[in-house]
Amino acid sequence: MHHRDILSTLRETSPEALADLWKRADAVRREAVGPDVHLRGLLEISSHCARSCLYCGLRAENKGLTRYRMTREEILACLKEIAGAGYGTVVLQSGEDPALNIDWMAGLIQDIKSSSRLAVTLSLGEQSDAALEAWREAGADRYLLRFETSHAGLYGRIHPPRKGSGASDRLRILRKLMALGYETGSGVMVGIPGQTHEMLAADIALFRDLGLHMVGVGPFIPHPDTPLGGAPASDTADQVPPTDLMVFKAMALTRILCPGTNIPVTTALSTINQEKGRELGLRRGGNVIMPNFTPLKFRASYAIYPEKACIRDSGIESDRKVRELIKRVGRQAGTGRGDAPAMKDGPNRNSNQR
Ligand code: SAH
Repeated sequence: MHHRDILSTLRETSPEALADLWKRADAVRREAVGPDVHLRGLLEISSHCARSCLYCGLRAENKGLTRYRMTREEILACLKEIAGAGYGTVVLQSGEDPALNIDWMAGLIQDIKSSSRLAVTLSLGEQSDAALEAWREAGADRYLLRFETSHAGLYGRIHPPRKGSGASDRLRILRKLMALGYETGSGVMVGIPGQTHEMLAADIALFRDLGLHMVGVGPFIPHPDTPLGGAPASDTADQVPPTDLMVFKAMALTRILCPGTNIPVTTALSTINQEKGRELGLRRGGNVIMPNFTPLKFRASYAIYPEKACIRDSGIESDRKVRELIKRVGRQAGTGRGDAPAMKDGPNRNSNQR
């Protein structure tokens, strides 16, 4: 698929053409990754963050947010719940919290790997090569780091460098992660103020060119306590709208361009379309859902954006709903680790893979 075809699909409005797109994405999904929907238990382990991303509620300048950091004991208790629910993967996510230093994280990862069969996915923001190497060595299997937008100008405007550091280069880190043998995930927000259809088309082509194992796309949701919180939609006619429809188009195109990639139905998508977001996401390319197992008392303090879906559901409760949904759409919950097929065949095959 050429850039101009991706672009025209993003601009498509005809119901017939869109119905064809959903059908094609679902057929590719069935062929390439099958009926399994992989479940990942999400743990938001710290809301402390040293960065100032203009879109994110965790940014250091947001003084209204209560900050927390889960203790090792709290994390291990949640892991029991996640493994007990039959999951094969835990995702540890946080702001860029300097207290989650190399040794502390490496110790935690080793504990998890020696006491369970869980695959460990990290989503801890931009970290040093030394940290990424040490955590891989400790047993971490996967890493999620969205590049947010492939457009250097827009990226620079929404994602200032960390104090005392040079310009942020997430593409370099993604290549490093792949070289270290991590199953590597990335993605973008859809509808960032200033994002054009051309830019989003380039993002999707880049997913393919990077050979990513996982791709997450979700709508941008303005957070009132951030610089982009009150931003009116940009006045360029080409502004990408932050709608569920545009996210579905991006997911379907991603599935067609990267057939063997794991594509989550994101929490942000289920937030803007609470009724149908998850179901349609699964029918339009998605094959992964990440129920949130963060203890309820911490949820409000991990407000990346407002009104996150299922903020009131415990992990077990959202697990129950997700399994019902998977049955309703005629699919099945995955039972193993749910490694990306691209990974199984690739040169970076994990040594501890079953
Ligand atoms: N600090 C880590 C992980 C937490 S943020 C990191 O930056 O990778 C995880 C993702 O949430 C980000 O990559 C971004 O794409 C998304 N996000 C942040 N703010 C958002 C907003 N206002 N609306 C929608 N998604 C947002």
